Amino acid sequence: MSADLFELSPEQREIQALCRQFAEREIRPISLAVDEADTEMPWDVWYQAAALGLTSFMLPASLGGGGMEDSFTQALVQEELCWGCSGIGNLITSNGFFSEPVLKLGTDEQARRWVEPLAGERPTLGALASTEPGVGSDAAAMTTTATRVEGGYVLRGQKSWVSSAGPAEYYVVFATVAPGTRSKGITAFVLEKSDSGLTIGPPIKKMGQRAILNAELFLEDCFVADDRRLGKEGEGFRGLMRTFDRSRITLGAAATGLARAALEYAVEYAKTREQFGKPIARHQAVAFRLADMAVRVEAARLLVWRAARKADAGHDAGVEAAMAKLYASETAMFCTWAAVQTLGGWGYSREYPVEKWMRDAKLEEIEEGTSDIQRLIISRGLLA
Ligand SMILES: Cc1cc2nc3c(=O)[nH]c(=O)nc-3n(C[C@H](O)[C@H](O)[C@H](O)COP(=O)(O)OP(=O)(O)OC[C@H]3O[C@@H](n4cnc5c(N)ncnc54)[C@H](O)[C@@H]3O)c2cc1C
Repeated sequence: MSADLFELSPEQREIQALCRQFAEREIRPISLAVDEADTEMPWDVWYQAAALGLTSFMLPASLGGGGMEDSFTQALVQEELCWGCSGIGNLITSNGFFSEPVLKLGTDEQARRWVEPLAGERPTLGALASTEPGVGSDAAAMTTTATRVEGGYVLRGQKSWVSSAGPAEYYVVFATVAPGTRSKGITAFVLEKSDSGLTIGPPIKKMGQRAILNAELFLEDCFVADDRRLGKEGEGFRGLMRTFDRSRITLGAAATGLARAALEYAVEYAKTREQFGKPIARHQAVAFRLADMAVRVEAARLLVWRAARKADAGHDAGVEAAMAKLYASETAMFCTWAAVQTLGGWGYSREYPVEKWMRDAKLEEIEEGTSDIQRLIISRGLLA
């Protein structure tokens, strides 16, 4: 419905339709098995998506990508893919999270070195490492250090929860060159998996979104040459925040797709399941719950699309991105809970997808800034 208010270009309609079909035919059928197996990333679907350009549509055309760099197109794609499965959908577009700081802070040569290999049909995978065991929401407090030495830097510290750590070849790692100065010293570096001094821990066992592996990075006297630094010393925090401003819109779209999946599933179930002699959808308590789900899905999408349009127009959309991410992720949580409730006992069964979706939805309220942190950003905007 929201599409009536926001004009989509023919290319945007085309990629939206392609993603819808891909989600239905390729993602949905394997989604529960990937979750159950919880061992490896689903490479087949990754390469299938790559062949269609879905892993690189957001990268610049000059680097082999699809050149659809705007947030709005990314939101369209993300909603559709994550309707199929949010873990797999988030994996397919995850190179956008790595490439953003490289493109924003790095030189043309660095972009060619680390972004170009992300395009094409056999793309390399990149990851982003900011969080540490003792530092999450307060990213400026990070303690991983980058000490200047002749010809480069020595990195020491530990990063946690890094998505795609292990399978990824490239890592944007944030470290401070001036401990104790908070954001002022934070600097971004690209590490390659083979770098000596970089070790990757085993996958962390997770509640949901198991199509992506998460692990810790250990940096023990890890030397990187000067050409690994992105931007100037101290520019990393700004790069990280700008990456989040953009990725939160995408994450809001992912949550909207997940919420829409739950809504559609619950509607279909409620129309056919009968209790007290009629479909449960005819019981007002059930029907009203479905209505609440539908309203929230529409509202979430509108917030996501508004933030995307503002960002694409070149304006600061940090607050709008926070609103979109906050509302859409809480909507995903509500709608997946409501879908489980609508299916009753079957909602609790692993034979139906809704319990998985509820587990998947929880992550949307945590990563890239918890709901509390989004409220902090929004309230700071109000009080500024
Ligand atoms: C599956 C998964 C994937 C992830 N992927 C990545 C990745 O690829 N790269 C990466 O760098 N990180 C990643 N993360 C880390 C994620 O971004 C952090 O978990 C998140 O930012 C929260 O940090 P924390 O876990 O340390 O929680 P904490 O910061 O310790 O927060 C704990 C609780 O305190 C609350 N809180 C903290 N500060 C405040 C405040 N000022 N006001 C109110 N409440 C507050 C939080 O909202 C939360 O409820 C991932 C996490 C998960 C679970």
